[in-house]
Amino acid sequence: MTSLAPKIDHSKCIGCGICFFVCPTNPKVFQPCRGLSWVVHPEACTGCGRCVKYCPVHAIELVPLEHAGPKLPRDFIGEVVIGKLIGKVKQ
Ligand code: SF4
Ligand code: SF4
Repeated sequence: MTSLAPKIDHSKCIGCGICFFVCPTNPKVFQPCRGLSWVVHPEACTGCGRCVKYCPVHAIELVPLEHAGPKLPRDFIGEVVIGKLIGKVKQ
C-alpha cells in the first residue's frame, strides 16, 4: 500500500494555519512559517483527510509520500525554533 502525505500549492495557500490545527498527528505534519504552511513530518500523516477538507482555499491534496511538500527550507528552521522558544517563555 502506498503511504499518502500532503502536498500544498503555495500559489493558493494564505497561511491561515487551519491545516496545522486540524492535523491530529504528533509530531505535526505541518509547520506555519513566513505566511505559508510547510510539510515538516510527512511520514507522520495518517491519511485522515482533515487538512484537505478544511483548507479554505483547497490548496492541499494527498499524494504518495515521496511527492509531499514543500518542505521547510533549511534557512527557515532557525526562526521556527526561536519562535517556539519565545512562545514557551511567554506561557
Ligand atoms: S489550511 Fe490551506 S490556506 Fe491555510 S495554511 Fe493550510 S494550506 Fe495554507
Ligand atoms: S491527512 Fe490528516 S494526518 Fe495527514 S496531514 Fe492531513 S490532517 Fe494531518
